[in-house]
Amino acid sequence: MTKHIFVTGGVVSSLGKGLTSASIGMLLENRGLSVRMQKLDPYINVDPGTMSPYQHGEVYVLDDGSETDLDLGHYERFTHSPLSKDSNWTTGRIYSSVIGKERRGEYLGKTVQVVPHITNEIKSCIRRLASDDVDVVITEIGGTIGDIESLPFLEAIRQFQIDVGRENCCFIHLTLVPYLKAARELKTKPTQHSVGQLRQIGVQPDFIVCRTEQHISSEDVDKIALFCNVPRQHVVEELDADFSIYEVPLSLVEHNLDRMLVERLSLTKAKELDLTRWHEFLSALRNTQTDVTIAVVGKYAKHKDAYKSIYEALVHAGAANSANVRILRIPSENLEREETRVALENVQGILLPGGFGERGVEGKIEAVRIARERKIPFFGICLGMQCAVIEYARNVLGMKDANSTEFSKELEYPVVCLMDEQRSVTDKGGTMRLGTQPTALLAGSRAASAYGTLDVQERHRHRYEFNYEYRDRFIDGGLVISGSSPDGKLVEVVELDEHPWFVAVQYHPEFKSKPTQPHPLFKAFIAAAVRKRRGANDEGEK
Ligand code: GLN
Repeated sequence: MTKHIFVTGGVVSSLGKGLTSASIGMLLENRGLSVRMQKLDPYINVDPGTMSPYQHGEVYVLDDGSETDLDLGHYERFTHSPLSKDSNWTTGRIYSSVIGKERRGEYLGKTVQVVPHITNEIKSCIRRLASDDVDVVITEIGGTIGDIESLPFLEAIRQFQIDVGRENCCFIHLTLVPYLKAARELKTKPTQHSVGQLRQIGVQPDFIVCRTEQHISSEDVDKIALFCNVPRQHVVEELDADFSIYEVPLSLVEHNLDRMLVERLSLTKAKELDLTRWHEFLSALRNTQTDVTIAVVGKYAKHKDAYKSIYEALVHAGAANSANVRILRIPSENLEREETRVALENVQGILLPGGFGERGVEGKIEAVRIARERKIPFFGICLGMQCAVIEYARNVLGMKDANSTEFSKELEYPVVCLMDEQRSVTDKGGTMRLGTQPTALLAGSRAASAYGTLDVQERHRHRYEFNYEYRDRFIDGGLVISGSSPDGKLVEVVELDEHPWFVAVQYHPEFKSKPTQPHPLFKAFIAAAVRKRRGANDEGEK
């Protein structure tokens, strides 16, 4: 029978519930258990795809094209749990499903209510991940205890424990134990109150994981245990991971959380932990030989979560190259300023992420020009690739007003244009070209050599494309089209020969990088940055 772990959060938001859930998943998987991960989000948007990165950080895209919460990125980086549209539910999606059933008459004349209809729908989303070959489902509940929005989710998990039996499910509550500088003390009261609220709803947490910046004293552990009604060893300290988020699982192991979960849920199949590969990755991260600075030039550069997967993929690639990657976040509109342009000329790599809308695009195009002319390793992703194409058209092929029809409709050279399949689309949510699609690479290209294969599968999220009509002009003008859809119609990868490393892709490779399996393109990009750093600014290795 599948066991269930529910992770809730209290006191404040942004506590790192996603990371803690992912770390627990990683530890149980490492013990030989088959794990599934899921996040339930209390907001009303059907998915985060329509939300601004300022509101919500990155939109994480799955193989099946679902646009999901960025915590699912942590799940994929930490575990091998297969994720799909069943892995992220929002209030909006739950309600649309219930309202759809109501319209079809499936409730047979009943008054449709939050309890039991919405809560039943939530429970069925949780149950959907359980099956004979799944040992544990970890369900993270978004939001903070006390929010009005999350009540139906908490009521659903309260009922769930009765449905499956208390012995088959376990509640982990993540809280903050703040340090008050003036009093020089850690404070446990917010944790007590948060657990008190949870208990009022009918959920008694089994484990309290305490985020803290200082070690929690034995007396404070006793206090938390007493007031929160748990054995003292079930109070687990999660000290801030100063060096890397990949240390979080180790902090949980130190407090035996994995072992206690195995016991609590009678997971008899569980083996001993073997974290050798994880430790190897962390030690590579710690023992780097060189530093490289990579500029990430984007519209949302100031928002720390907007390019989350890109930043993580750079860390993975750094470890694989024994390089400490310093990320310089440059808001693209700042490139109008001379000093920003100068700063950009002194980095070892320039990465242009994806994006939407006109603001900051001219700055991005300027960043491509600097990378191309100054022979700085360049990696363009999605809008980053489209900007690389526009820059090449304008400054090498002489098409002065080249642009994307996303930004201007009246163009002599619309080198990037709306995909045919998008022309009749009016709804904004879930309607882009989304999810995994195959790409055929050109033999002998830089991309092919990085991947070590010619057939790759990568995730997409876009409406605009390289305009096929200009294909031959670009090729004649020296741009290498090194990846296309198998029918040859969509350009997926472009690169430059006379440059140390200049590769731009229409897809999002950042979604497929893991600490122990860095993405080949990120790895090759950082390798080129390391060569630049060492002064070997030659044509690079193919
Ligand atoms: N705005 C561009 C498009 O829709 C790029 C999208 C992206 O970078 N994800 O095609």
